[in-house]
Amino acid sequence: MKKTEKNVMEMLAKYAQDKYGKELKKCKNEEIYYALLHMTKDMMADKKPISGKKKIYYISAEFLIGKLLSNNLINLGIYNALDEGLAAIGKDLSKIEEVEPEPSLGNGGLGRLAACFLDSIASLNLPGEGIGLNYHFGLFKQVFRKRMQTAEKNEWIEDDSWLTKTDTTFTVCFGKKKVKSRLYDIDVVGYNTGVNKLRLFDIESVDESLVEKGINFDKTDIKKNLTLFLYPDDSDEAGNLLRIYQQYFMVSNGAQLIIKEMKDKGYDLHKMNQHAVIQINDTHPTMVIPELIRILTQEEGFDMDEAIKLVSKTCAYTNHTILAEALEKWPLAYLKKVVPQLVPIIEELNARVVKKYKDERVWIIDKDQRVHMAHIDIHYGFSVNGVAAIHTDILKQTELNHFYNIYPKKFNNKTNGITFRRWLLSCNKELAAYLDELLGEGYKTDAMELEKLLAYKDDKKVLDRLEAIKKEKKLQLCDYIKKNEKITLNPDSIFDIQIKRMHEYKRQQMNALYIIHKYLEIKGGKLPKRPITFIFGAKAAPAYIIAQDVIHLLLVMQKLINDDPAVNKHMQLVFVENYNVTYAEKLIPACDISEQISLASKEASGTGNMKFMLNGAVTLGTDDGANVEIHELVGDDNIFIFGKDSDTVIQHYAKADYVSRKYYEKDAVIREAVDFIVGDETLALGNKKSLERLYNELLNKDWFMTLLDLKEYIKVKDKAFNAYEKRTAWKKMALVNIAKAGFFSSDRTIAEYNRDIWKLK
Ligand SMILES: *Cc1c(COP(=O)(O)O)cnc(C)c1O
Repeated sequence: MKKTEKNVMEMLAKYAQDKYGKELKKCKNEEIYYALLHMTKDMMADKKPISGKKKIYYISAEFLIGKLLSNNLINLGIYNALDEGLAAIGKDLSKIEEVEPEPSLGNGGLGRLAACFLDSIASLNLPGEGIGLNYHFGLFKQVFRKRMQTAEKNEWIEDDSWLTKTDTTFTVCFGKKKVKSRLYDIDVVGYNTGVNKLRLFDIESVDESLVEKGINFDKTDIKKNLTLFLYPDDSDEAGNLLRIYQQYFMVSNGAQLIIKEMKDKGYDLHKMNQHAVIQINDTHPTMVIPELIRILTQEEGFDMDEAIKLVSKTCAYTNHTILAEALEKWPLAYLKKVVPQLVPIIEELNARVVKKYKDERVWIIDKDQRVHMAHIDIHYGFSVNGVAAIHTDILKQTELNHFYNIYPKKFNNKTNGITFRRWLLSCNKELAAYLDELLGEGYKTDAMELEKLLAYKDDKKVLDRLEAIKKEKKLQLCDYIKKNEKITLNPDSIFDIQIKRMHEYKRQQMNALYIIHKYLEIKGGKLPKRPITFIFGAKAAPAYIIAQDVIHLLLVMQKLINDDPAVNKHMQLVFVENYNVTYAEKLIPACDISEQISLASKEASGTGNMKFMLNGAVTLGTDDGANVEIHELVGDDNIFIFGKDSDTVIQHYAKADYVSRKYYEKDAVIREAVDFIVGDETLALGNKKSLERLYNELLNKDWFMTLLDLKEYIKVKDKAFNAYEKRTAWKKMALVNIAKAGFFSSDRTIAEYNRDIWKLK
């Protein structure tokens, strides 16, 4: 046994002995998990906190952190020692990891980005904290019933967890109503560096028993419900008010924490911007701006001009979307109900804008008395960034052009990234081990070193080994899906995967239409050269009806296809239940074709696309978001790009000249696929109302232009499946994708944030 291995195993044995009074060998996986949890927490607590004279506070409504054990062990440098030590006594660390529940503190890409950023901030040894909320049930757990999505609460907080209760409490006032907060911390350990913290605020009086069936609860009593769920249903006023309560609770605690830390360290509040920078992740934390101004003017004796200037030099804003419906606009009347103390500040901020600019589009409060949260960020923050090159260009040239004309220097791009610790070292240990062998370990701290892999592009041994690793990951995924979905998949088939939130702009419905088309072809005797497995994972917002309908259609198709012996030899479909980070970590390494088919101009960046690329999948996508940058990096020969470009799409919206029915009427292939949605086969298995609603939506509205790109999509997808048969060429494509993925390390993204915006050291 090596020295570290012996040491950590001895240490773990001691934890097990203390906790369970048993030898490690006699402990169950569950017991070993909790022993490891405590050991890891103690090791992190003993590590040096990362410090410096200036700190980044990353405020976000979401931190989709995933399970933490494996990543913490990797970052502490003890994963391999434990893995081998445990194997030597007949224990399997990967099975032990399964005991951990996944926290659902996020919704999708935006929350996962925040989690990747925390890992990279710590790994670059930058002092930083995440600030968010400790939702007890987080995002709902998805359960399929009668081929429909239903929502249940996701319980993740156990007596023993990564959360550490602190002594820090604050009072948060909503007008005259007061609640007491409590801070919980989760340690964030960097890769061979020190420790930062994720700060999650909760209320002391939260009442979990408020939740009835599913995820329903009384929305009025905020002293009991405030931190129960992430994004409570906002289709009624009570739901909207609750979201504002949550947002203010988050930022008021954050502001109080930042000011307390400044004072504890003896810093001059007048120089706040030299010690703190606040990154506002999307508009949910926007109220931190007026809240800080309120505290400085009303409690710290600042005059208004200075407070506004200082806060503006401290806050920076990240925009994540150009979808109009996703840009928050709160009715002033709602803010008056929830946070009356902020309203005069917001009115003052607006008055200053109105005085200076005639153009009503840049005002904070519009003539319908709605408060545009992003406008607060843009006027009163010092930086506005988009999350991929094309996204930032669209913000500058179109969506936020009137702001860009006022503040050209504020706008900048920070193309998103992913942490390679989780999305390679942890989720694909086989590939990481092989890369270690081939390239050395330098790529783990300098991701660009992955390019060294290009030297092996024509090396048959390397290509075969990469293929063998892909096969191994496919077999592991087949086991996992068998266990969780009770479906047996063919590991020799092509794995074509689309996993992401269910949304019309992401166009899962277009993939569904392809699947219908392929099904009809097979029924008609036209067989694919090799079987294909289509895999989906996605949650739909409970109030988003059409998105639920798309899930329903896909579950109906799953049943139809998998139960038909004439078809299931050639294609299979599985929609995995409750897609989350844990599932992503199993699916991504097993993927051959990564589906990134959003309507051009609509996906700000995407990060799933990067995870797939890093794990040797080939992208089939539109020139949208970070796909554009993937395309540039790998070149035309190593990606499958299709669809109308973003300029054309933006033109269609501007002229309002896209009519989906025309595409339907013009083309028999499109017509057949769309009609099938309400054909006898699907109606026999599905819900008529839901399927008809979807059919009518596609025919009469199709806001995200599914039918515009469907024909080209069918063509390029068939081309990709054919290309898979040229095995050597395909394996080279996979290699090039891995080799070129270094740019998408979130270490690069964070280094850029620090260089251009935070300037920490
Ligand atoms: C990466 C990730 C996402 C984001 O996926 P996109 O394809 O970029 O939308 C969403 N959910 C989970 C669980 C993820 O890991």
